Amino acid sequence: MLADLFDAFFFDLDGVVYISRELTPGAQEALSRLRERDKTIRFLTNNPTTRKRITKRLHRMGIDAKDEEVITSGWVTGVYAAEHGIRRAWVLGDDYLKEEIANAGVKIVNDFTCDAVIAGWGDSITLAEIRRAALAIHNGVTFIATNADCNFPSENGPLAAVGAVVEALHVASGRSPQIIGKPYSPMFLKALDTLTFSSDKAVMIGDTPSVDILGAHQIGMQAILMGENISFPFSNDYRNADAHIVTLLDLFDPDVSIREWQAPSHIWPQSVEPGVAGVVFNDKGEVLLMKRADNGLWGIPSGHIEPAEKVEHAIIREIFEETGLEVEVQRLIGVYSDPASQIICYPDLKICHFITTCFECKMKGGILKKTGEETLNAGFFDPQKLPTPLMPMHPQWLSDALSHCEKSYIR
Ligand SMILES: [Mg+2]
Repeated sequence: MLADLFDAFFFDLDGVVYISRELTPGAQEALSRLRERDKTIRFLTNNPTTRKRITKRLHRMGIDAKDEEVITSGWVTGVYAAEHGIRRAWVLGDDYLKEEIANAGVKIVNDFTCDAVIAGWGDSITLAEIRRAALAIHNGVTFIATNADCNFPSENGPLAAVGAVVEALHVASGRSPQIIGKPYSPMFLKALDTLTFSSDKAVMIGDTPSVDILGAHQIGMQAILMGENISFPFSNDYRNADAHIVTLLDLFDPDVSIREWQAPSHIWPQSVEPGVAGVVFNDKGEVLLMKRADNGLWGIPSGHIEPAEKVEHAIIREIFEETGLEVEVQRLIGVYSDPASQIICYPDLKICHFITTCFECKMKGGILKKTGEETLNAGFFDPQKLPTPLMPMHPQWLSDALSHCEKSYIR
C-alpha cells in the first residue's frame, strides 16, 4: 500500500484535506493512521498567510497539526527573501503576510527604498499602490510573487486571487517575478529542506495536475492525484500523476499501486511558440551566423512569427532585422519540435517550447550589419569552423541543410 512506500507525505489542503469548510471523507482517519506509523506530514498551501493561521484552521476542523508541519507560500516567501539578501520589502498583501515576512527578518516598507516588491493578497491593495510598486519593479528591484493562482472558487463564481495582482504588476512593469508557491520549485524545495531524508522518500498528494503534480515532478518527487482522475495524452507529461486515489483512505488500500516517476531530459515549458530559422550560404559555401543579444550565443538567424504572418515572410523579416541582408526562401530544411532540444529557458525566467520551421534562404541584396538591437555580432563562417558558444540545436539544423536531402526533415 502507498502508506508503506514513503516516509513523508506532502498534502495539498483545499481539495485534499478539506473542501471549503468540510473535511474530505476519511481525511481525519487517514492522517491519524499515518501518524501512528510515525510518518512525517507536511501541509503545502499557496495561501500567502502565516503558518499559525493554517494550523489553527486545521485544529478547528479536528486535524492534528503543528506550525512546523505547515508550509504556506507566505512563510516560504519570507524565508526565500531573507536567504536572497532582501532587507527591505514592499509587500502588497495583508497583515498576515507582512507578519510572516517580518518574522523572517525582512523590514516592511511601502516606498521606493525597498529592494524587493512582494505580491500577495489583501482586500486593501489599491490601483495607486500597484502603479507605484510596478514602477519600482520596472526600475530594477527584485520582483517576488507568493503564488500565481489566478482565481479561487466561490458560490457565485471564480474570485480574483494573487495571480491577478501579479499579472497587473507584470504587464505594467514588463518584468516577470520569481514565483514561490506551487507549481514552482521554491515551495517544494523548502518543504523538502525541513526533512532529514531525500525526496525519493517523500510523495506529494494533490487535486490539481497543473499545480500539485507538475510541481512535485519538476523537482523529481512522485505525485498522487486525488479526486477526479485527469490524464494527459503523453505518459511523460509532467502533469500526469503516478497514482490516483479517491479518498485519503486509499493510501491504505493494498490494490492501489504507484509508478516510478522518470523525469524526461527536458524541463517543463510554460508555452508553445511558433518560430522560424534561416540558413543562408554565401558563394564560398560559408554560413551566416549571428551572436544573439538575449543570451550571448552564436546561432543561425531565427525568431518568432508575428500574429497573422506567414512563415516565409517571418524568416525574410527576421534575417533583415538581425543582419541587414535581404533574402528569398529557397526550400524547407525541416520542422523541429523535439522538446529535448527545442525548449529554451530565457534569462527572464520564461520557458518556451519552440516549433521551428527552418528554411534555406538565398541572398538577394542588402549590406551585412554586424550589430543591432538583437545582434552583438554577425558574419559568414566555414561550417567546419563554427564559433562558440553556439545555440545547442543549431548544428543539427545546419547539418540537415548541408545534407542536401531532397525531402525535408521532421525532427
Ligand atoms: Mg487543491
